[in-house]
Amino acid sequence: MERLQKVIAHAGIASRRKAETLISEGRVKVNGTTVTELGVKVSSKDQIEVDNVPINQEEPVYFMFYKPRGVISAVSDDKGRKVVTDFFSGTTERIYPVGRLDYDTSGLLLLTNDGAFAQKLTHPKHEVDKVYVAKVKGIPEKQQLRPLSRGLRFEGVKYGPAHYDVLSTDTKAQTAIIQLTIHEGKNHQVKKMLQAVGLPVQKLKREKYGNLTLDNLRPGEYRPLHKKEVSQLL
Ligand code: URA
Repeated sequence: MERLQKVIAHAGIASRRKAETLISEGRVKVNGTTVTELGVKVSSKDQIEVDNVPINQEEPVYFMFYKPRGVISAVSDDKGRKVVTDFFSGTTERIYPVGRLDYDTSGLLLLTNDGAFAQKLTHPKHEVDKVYVAKVKGIPEKQQLRPLSRGLRFEGVKYGPAHYDVLSTDTKAQTAIIQLTIHEGKNHQVKKMLQAVGLPVQKLKREKYGNLTLDNLRPGEYRPLHKKEVSQLL
């Protein structure tokens, strides 16, 4: 058991003194309950949050994962479906996905146990390019795609500008492959944006996240990120 302020300081959040201030100001929770008293002792099993961000009592770890289709971006599922952490059975740290990919979307997903890192990357202000490749129903006309680059509103939700490229078209099947680059991470964003311009998505894959690509990973495989890759994302 360690004193709460010492654990906060060790996690690199603040100096011991600043940690005491955070506690007194009511910004620290232990297992969901705000603690304002100094000197409370905690163990590594206790869940500690500063400003509602869980702090890490474990060594931070970072992975990129090639999520296959048919897998939930979560650590558990009440319907018993496969979840991303099922692929990390040899990992003892309590990792979770940074943001989400839909059940039927494949591609690059980050996982970590670093709450501050995850929160920063999923904040709407954090502009990391995410590149998706979508197979859509329909052959896009030039005009039709233009709203994507201006940004658009669909079903009451505003989506920022996206960069797009038509990679190929198949006139026989009446389908096209479109690459779309977005900064935000709104719910079903790529599907919604393409639906908004009349091109329903049949298949979706995330190919890039910031500077990261899937390299040689195959669906279901992962690798740790290098220190430099982590710092480049922040
Ligand atoms: N946009 C979507 O529509 N789905 C995803 O999984 C990711 C981005």
